Amino acid sequence: MTAIHAYAATAPKSPLQPFEFDPGELGQDQVEIKVTHCGICHSDLSMLDNEWGMSQFPLVPGHEAVGTVLAIGENAKGLKVGQRVGVGWSASSCLSCRECLSGHHNLCAESQGTIVGRHGGFADRLRTQWTWVRPIPDALDPSKAGPLFCGGVTVFTPFLAYDISPTARVGILGIGGLGHMALQFANKWGCEVHAFTTNDSKEPEARRLGAHVVHNTKSDGALKKMAGSLDLIISTINVPLDVPGLLETLAPLGRLHVVGAVLEPLSVPAFGMIMGQKSISGSPVGSPTAIDRMLEFSARHLIAPVVEGFPMSKVNDALEHLRAGKARYRIVLNSDF
Ligand code: NAP
Ligand code: ZN
Repeated sequence: MTAIHAYAATAPKSPLQPFEFDPGELGQDQVEIKVTHCGICHSDLSMLDNEWGMSQFPLVPGHEAVGTVLAIGENAKGLKVGQRVGVGWSASSCLSCRECLSGHHNLCAESQGTIVGRHGGFADRLRTQWTWVRPIPDALDPSKAGPLFCGGVTVFTPFLAYDISPTARVGILGIGGLGHMALQFANKWGCEVHAFTTNDSKEPEARRLGAHVVHNTKSDGALKKMAGSLDLIISTINVPLDVPGLLETLAPLGRLHVVGAVLEPLSVPAFGMIMGQKSISGSPVGSPTAIDRMLEFSARHLIAPVVEGFPMSKVNDALEHLRAGKARYRIVLNSDF
């Protein structure tokens, strides 16, 4: 086997450097892909900073990879050499637990993250279990499809999981990588879509992406104006949430769904949930089937991430751009190995 060429950080918060490793023999259940593009998710920054205490170094980030199938292990199923595919946050799951057998592979206790103790997609090649290598419909542009595999499926999953009605009013909190895809899904799902941002300059794009109304959460009373009206709020921000204020914006039976990885515990008023029977929930990425359904939905409705391209060799500039909050709205690295 030839070495995989990648970019790795050797310690928390350190810049990435060229890095080579020998991947050994291809596992029987694994697929190897030649990476052509890889999105950068905020979770890559959190892992590089070891914010979640589970990073192992050297760390090759990258979990929104797109490429073509190079090699298929003897027990891998459903894929062909040369096929255009993508890989997201998850790299394997046990396939035998109750969650896997009921189609909730993303909830498998033994599932492994693509960049957790393994090397990710900022590389010329990437290997994962076949289950998590999903074919990309022809109608999707491969140079933009990567972000759908983590950010996209993360905000699509609540629409499937909670049978969101097309008559629902949906609020998206934070218009970044995840949020700008959530606006598109919510709009094409048929919902009334409210974008909540801290940045007025995002308003025109938020409307173009499907928001019917854009609110600035920094302005006084932005949440109060919406009191009792939203059926679902998807929070994509990773800073402390005004949970009491958000619960008040929900209609009876409404749901606050948290996907942004806020480190601080949420402060939840019991009566904010009791009165109006409101729920608070969260979810990790999505199952392989959810990824497939999200890709089909995106192809049918011409949904695509708005991307800024960087050559993979400029990965440190790209990471700084995201860290500075300047990405509009998702950065994709184009392989120049
Ligand atoms: P991102 O592109 O950096 O976007 C985050 C957005 O949050 C920003 O665009 C900004 O939106 C808002 N924001 C940032 N700082 C803020 C502040 N101080 N106050 C209020 N709002 C602020 O990040 P992302 O890639 O979308 O990821 C978002 C979060 O989801 C991260 O925590 C990531 O780790 C997590 N995540 C979770 C899952 C999962 O499975 N649950 C999957 C992927 C990612 P505005 O400018 O519009 O205010
Ligand atoms: Zn991610």
